[in-house]
Formats: sequence, C-alpha cells, structure tokens
Amino acid sequence: MLYDHLVVRYGELSLKGKNRRHFESQLFETVKRKLRPYDNLKMAKLFDRIVVELNGQPFEPVIKSLQDIFGIHSISPALRTENNLEEIKKTALLALQDAMVKRGTFKVTGKRSLKSFPVNSMQLNHEIGGYLLQHTEDITVDVHNPDVNVKVEVKDTGTYISCQSFAGAGGLPIGVGGKAMLMLSGGIDSPVAGYLTMKRGVRIEGVHFHSPPFTSERAKQKVVDLTQELTRYSGGKIKLHVVPFTQIQQAIKDKIPASYSMTIMRRVMLKITERLAEENNAMAIANGENLGQVASQTMHSMYAINEVTNLPILRPVITMDKLEIMDISQRIGTYDISIRPYEDCCTIFLPSAPKTKPKREKAIRFEKKIENLAELIEEAVQSVESIFIEEGKSTENTFEDLF
Ligand code: ATP
Ligand code: MG
Repeated sequence: MLYDHLVVRYGELSLKGKNRRHFESQLFETVKRKLRPYDNLKMAKLFDRIVVELNGQPFEPVIKSLQDIFGIHSISPALRTENNLEEIKKTALLALQDAMVKRGTFKVTGKRSLKSFPVNSMQLNHEIGGYLLQHTEDITVDVHNPDVNVKVEVKDTGTYISCQSFAGAGGLPIGVGGKAMLMLSGGIDSPVAGYLTMKRGVRIEGVHFHSPPFTSERAKQKVVDLTQELTRYSGGKIKLHVVPFTQIQQAIKDKIPASYSMTIMRRVMLKITERLAEENNAMAIANGENLGQVASQTMHSMYAINEVTNLPILRPVITMDKLEIMDISQRIGTYDISIRPYEDCCTIFLPSAPKTKPKREKAIRFEKKIENLAELIEEAVQSVESIFIEEGKSTENTFEDLF
C-alpha cells in the first residue's frame, strides 16, 4: 500500500498549557530540519499534529529519522482523503485490508477536530465500523483489545486514516528547557547522559578536557565523533569546546599528593566548565557520573568535588546499572565509538588507587598548593577551541589545523 502521509503526534506537549505554542514551533523546526535531506516532502503544522506529505517517498526511512526527535509520541503512516463520509469509509476499508491480511479484530477510533464536519466522533466510529463489517469477511469488532485500531482523524486539511503506529522518542522538544554544558569524556556514560539531558528538552554544548601530547588526536577525534552521533537528537548541531588541560594536569601531578589528584582534577574541570557555562549562557552542567562506580564517583567524592560550583549538575545516569547505560548507548549509536581503545586524560595521569573517601577540607587545602591555579584556569579558558558539529557533515580530522 502506498501511504501518502505521516501523522506525527506530540507526547507530553498537550499537558503544558501556556508553553504549548512555543513547544510546538520548536518541534516543527526540528522536524523540518531533520527531514531536509528528503527534498520531496511537505510538512504542515496542524493544531495538535504535524502532517507530512510523502509525495511518493517510502515511509519507513522517514519514520526512522523522526524517531530521533524528542517531543514526538508516535508516528503513523496514513492515507488522506477529503472530508466526505463516503470517501472516508472507502479509504478506511483500504487501510484495514492492508493492515489485516486474514481474520482478526478491529475497532475504529474516530476523532473529529474539525467541528464543522457534520459527523461527530462517536458517529464516525459507528458509521465506519458498520461499513467495514459489511465489506469484509472473518473480521469482528473488539473495542478493548483489537488487532487493528483504525484511527480516523478529521482535520481542516482533510481526513487522515491510519492503522499502525510507531513509537516516537518521547520527552520534550529540544530547545524548550534551556541549555547545559555536557562534560564529554569519550567513555560510555557521558554520551548517554547527553542524550538523556536532551530528552528533557535541554540543549547541550560539549566540553572535553584534552591533554596533548599525552592523549592522542584519536582520543579527541573520538569525542568529535560522539558529538556528531549526538547531533541526531539535538536538532542538527552541537557546539563542542575542547579545553587544553595538559598544563593543569602537570601542575596537579607535581604539587598534589597522588591520592588527591583525582579529586583536585575533577574540581578544576568543574570550575572550568562553570566558566564556559557563563560564557555560553548555559544554566547547568551535565555529566555521566554514576554513584558508586569508581573512586571519583562515591558520595564522599561528589561532596568534595561539587562544592566548587553553584550551578545545578544534572546526572541523568546517576542511578543506573552499567548494563542499563550500555543498553542505551547501543540503542542511540554511541557505544561502538565509546569502546574505541584510546586513553583519555584521566586515565593517563592518575594513580591506580585514588582515595574513595576524600575529605573536602583536605581537598581545599591541597588545591592551594597550586599557587597559580587561577591563572592556569584563565589560560585554559582563553585557549579553548570551539567548533560546531553538524548532523550529516563529515568530522574527519576536524581539529587538524587547530592544535
Ligand atoms: P564516562 O564513561 O562518561 O567516561 P566514567 O564512568 O568512565 O564515565 P569517569 O571517567 O570517572 O567516569 O568520569 C565521570 C564523568 O566526568 C564523565 O562521565 C564525564 O562527564 C566527566 N569527564 C571525565 N573525563 C572527562 C574529560 N576528559 N572531559 C570531559 N569530561 C570528562
Ligand atoms: Mg571515563
């Protein structure tokens, strides 16, 4: 069957009262941008749906693209017909016959949004249901648990009939929830944290701490590639800030007792990320911390580290098991990049046994041993390299000319 339209339904949007208009226009922009590579599609924003005219384009790849977009609840391939009851019945029959090859049960879910249409939702169910029963064999009605739900939506632009729904990504449209700086390491957890942060409508910018020549170009390229993968969900692009961190790590190595170097390093990372948040109008920091996994992520550690900033820190994977995080990373496409074997700055400089219960007071005291820390931080912030990474554009050797 050649479906001619897609009906895109919003998720939690309908609950959000006043913000609704803003949410809907953000979502519509994201959909338009996502579907740009298909030049024959036409999109329209209706009252509580987006309708995509396929113009001969097969629906499967388009639905797949739409499934990356937060704020979409479900997507259905649909047949459009004029707002005329006889036409609607015939088209509903076509759709049902396509969806149900042999015997089975169905129900009709009519929804009249166009109030001037003379048949209301209840009557639609009756009229169409009766017609379908008359014109099929071995098919019966089951209103509670039907094999096929024939959805009939009467809108001012026509009636859309669908029998099949694909789940959307859920969440809220990107851009409605402010902006956070995502600390992106190249591991498995932080890209997942970025994905989940965006799921709540929050835009992200990436911050990566890089320590050349101790960490390689390939380690950095990995972070670029991860960011690129995340642009699928971000509305098309993400800004990535790469912070030169070698001098600071060297200072930590020289001045700080080994057991506290991890704690101090994290504190400095947070301070720098906070500065970048201020400069880029972000109101929060997001990271991939997970309670109790490693020494830097015990409750004691967070207590000793977190105090350097007043910004909210979003930790979307804080309570997850590693396997749950890995599942998500596989589903969103970041896993294979994350497991590439290049060292990041933390692994190279740090002792094999950092303190799992660092003390805040000691951390503060030790940190003072790096007398020029403020200047080092300032210098790092001034030397940050920032690039925009765009969906669908090659990022090979992105930084070749920069460092
Ligand atoms: P990940 O899988 O995200 O690397 P992890 O479980 O390996 O996380 P850590 O390496 O201890 O944990 O890092 C905890 C968090 O600190 C990371 O999720 C990330 O948000 C941040 N982080 C660590 N290293 C860096 C880095 N080089 N640049 C930016 N952020 C970092
Ligand atoms: Mg890591």
